[in-house]
Amino acid sequence: MRHLLGMGDLDADELVEVLDVADAFVEVGQRANPKVPALRGRTVATVFFESSTRTRVSFETAAKRLSADVLSFSAGTSSLNKGESLRDTIETIESMGIDALVIRHAAAGVPVQVARWLSSTCVVNAGDGAHEHPTQALIDLLTIRQVRDPGGKGVGCFAGLAVTIVGDIRHSRVARSQVCGLARLGARVTLVAPATLLPPSLEGWPVEAIGHDLDAVLPTTDVVSLLRVQEERGSGTYVPSLREYAHGYGLTAARAALLPPDAVVLHPGPVIRGVEVAPEVLDLPAVLVRRQVSNGVAVRMAVLFLLLGSGDRPSSGSRGAGGDGASAGGLGPGPGEAARTVEVSAVDDA
Ligand code: ASP
Repeated sequence: MRHLLGMGDLDADELVEVLDVADAFVEVGQRANPKVPALRGRTVATVFFESSTRTRVSFETAAKRLSADVLSFSAGTSSLNKGESLRDTIETIESMGIDALVIRHAAAGVPVQVARWLSSTCVVNAGDGAHEHPTQALIDLLTIRQVRDPGGKGVGCFAGLAVTIVGDIRHSRVARSQVCGLARLGARVTLVAPATLLPPSLEGWPVEAIGHDLDAVLPTTDVVSLLRVQEERGSGTYVPSLREYAHGYGLTAARAALLPPDAVVLHPGPVIRGVEVAPEVLDLPAVLVRRQVSNGVAVRMAVLFLLLGSGDRPSSGSRGAGGDGASAGGLGPGPGEAARTVEVSAVDDA
């Protein structure tokens, strides 16, 4: 595979492969020197046109832990302000000799378009509008597997797992990527939101149920995934007030008490305390927000490694995304090959 643009292009085997490689990098992250030489000589550019704390820092940390060089582009201080087009900006960055471009943009579809423009650079979608955020969904899958099947390989723990996604599903790229990945692995997904924060059409969404009563579904939920109300996309106008939203859909201590004892709570961050979750709930052991963030580095190491780490630097055109190459079709080498390579790379500290 040349790019990671969305979850829809990863089949179940490829998902397992990413999770297994990420697991190896979790172990690397626990070492005194959490660095491996796997991507020495490679350059990863982070190109963010939208705000980010954890995703950008996480990708840059991942690239550095793989010994890649990191080129960090900030749209706000770039020649885009002088009228340069997105295409010219992207092609300029590619001309500096980068191997992977990690892109976030407020408009859905930009990473796919960028992949078509680039001739030899891998593109990773770090969030495009309300479309997809595949690495966040991969983080969530890894985090769920760690708690449902500690030390486990494979994805048997997802079969029949009851996952409830709560909140601003209409504007959430995380929800789209989560639903795609979870359904592919056999989880039963329920969406809970005010009617105004559901997408206009849910046709084709592989979900088991859609509801508006959070209290009713919590007692049979294994995993709750909370979503932020995306005010920057105008979500505030879809609910009477954030206070009212919190009243109906916020995970309060009373609601958390309705969950089964082994249920866990995820949130991709940033968390708005007191809206989607009560501050005191954030301190419960069932809430895995911090673990998601630390898994983020391992998952992004796995994605960069699988895209870049399995061969020589490509010659111009060898990774070209012309035609249907712009869609993400898999993650690099076959499962066995990747697993073998990461074992070797992960053992040798950089
Ligand atoms: N960090 C996630 C995203 O970029 C979720 C959020 O912003 O609420 O989509």
